[in-house]
Amino acid sequence: MIDLTLSEALEKLNTGEISSVELTRAHLDRITRLDSQVKAYLTVTPDLALEQAAAADKRRAAGETAPLLGVPLAIKDVLCTEGVPTTCGSRILEGFVPPYTATAVQNLFDAGAVMLGKTNTDEFAMGSSTENSGYFTTHNPWDLERVPGGSSGGSAAAVAARMALGALGTDTGGSVRQPASLCGVVALKPSYGRVSRYGLIAFASSLDQVGVFGRTVEDAARLMNIIAGHDSRDSTSMPTPVPDYVAALNDGDLKGLRVGLPQEYFIEGIQPEVEAAVRAAVDKLAELGAEIVEISLPHTRYSLSVYYLVAPAEASANLARFDGVRYGPREDEGSMWATYKATRGRRFGPEVKRRIMLGTYALSTGYYDAYYLKAQKVRTLIKDDFEKAFEQVDVIAAPVSPTTAFKIGEKTDDPLQMYLSDVFTLSASLAGIPGLSVPCGFDTAGLPIGLQLFGPAFEEGRVLRVGHLYQQATDWHTRRPPLG
Ligand code: GLN
Repeated sequence: MIDLTLSEALEKLNTGEISSVELTRAHLDRITRLDSQVKAYLTVTPDLALEQAAAADKRRAAGETAPLLGVPLAIKDVLCTEGVPTTCGSRILEGFVPPYTATAVQNLFDAGAVMLGKTNTDEFAMGSSTENSGYFTTHNPWDLERVPGGSSGGSAAAVAARMALGALGTDTGGSVRQPASLCGVVALKPSYGRVSRYGLIAFASSLDQVGVFGRTVEDAARLMNIIAGHDSRDSTSMPTPVPDYVAALNDGDLKGLRVGLPQEYFIEGIQPEVEAAVRAAVDKLAELGAEIVEISLPHTRYSLSVYYLVAPAEASANLARFDGVRYGPREDEGSMWATYKATRGRRFGPEVKRRIMLGTYALSTGYYDAYYLKAQKVRTLIKDDFEKAFEQVDVIAAPVSPTTAFKIGEKTDDPLQMYLSDVFTLSASLAGIPGLSVPCGFDTAGLPIGLQLFGPAFEEGRVLRVGHLYQQATDWHTRRPPLG
């Protein structure tokens, strides 16, 4: 049962061939058996899952239907879930139980989905490997000595290891796309404003977006159908109508589709096998009828600098609220200042402290204009690059990450090397456009490689369709990690 895709499982649930309780049990059993090795979950919620599954079976027996009725999913632990601990992978929120549920998660519940548990993440989603989690590191199901990517590494690993049929993650600079690529699954980062951020604990508010994981593009589209849309509780969510992403998947072929190939994404330092696999994927799109157009996104080289000013600046402001008074545990040292200091000093990890310091510096008097304001201006140039490119092409193809999964511990001493792991995903976040990660091959060590597809803002339907047609013609996504 665990090898079914989400779409296949739904079909079997609908015909009565399997029940949600059976399907959910199969996943919980697998979590019990394998998650001590993979460590994808921070919290498993078996009682809630079985209760939701039984309720789904009952509804189905009563003749009711719902788009995800009885489907077991995993949720990244940065999304609030009422009554279930939500830690953001941080000791500063250890034991925190939110009094409400994030809109994206609530939408899944309203569609009948079952929650298996909350997945591991780099602390406050700051990282590219889950090694910054305040609890433990998640292991890549393809090679347990390697990282799953991050920050949504727990969700990516859970889906790859067949410990969930799909998952939610969040992406601020690459955090669903990069782990999907390193774990050989599909992920979509929607346009900024496409999915409500209500109940998502903020990292960098102008960049954060909830994204979806699946083993196929079709599964990702199914989840997008449920979570996309306006929410009056998030003033940055857009009222743009939500198309039926699943129905649109087969809306025509690739004949005449113009695929842009940006020269700035095929640079020195990229692992040759990654470049070869991505170029082969682009050849496949051409074989399917697409026209390949060489393009340039000239401001790409500033993405990393811009991101590491804007994101820490926003993070330093957002994380000011964690002081041991309002949320989570308190390191009581008598006076107010000593208590703040002790709580933040002991319970934030080193990467979070680094970002708070970088951000506070970039926003401080005298440096604001030189750093933050300038970064915002360059961000506009990066966005303009994409807008110009999309006058010429329909989608843009690129690698997701310059390398396949690296070894646990390999980059922990060198933050800049770690930051470079997202060099190809940052621009789309800064521009607010959708980015899809689709498996497109393996390196000689047997580690997965991902193809990235960008589209204009609010055209996630287009990138999903291209990704789906690519998957119809290839079988990379059907391979399974060598786990128990
Ligand atoms: N790896 C990037 C960072 O550390 C992106 C993280 C994310 O998208 N949440 O900020």
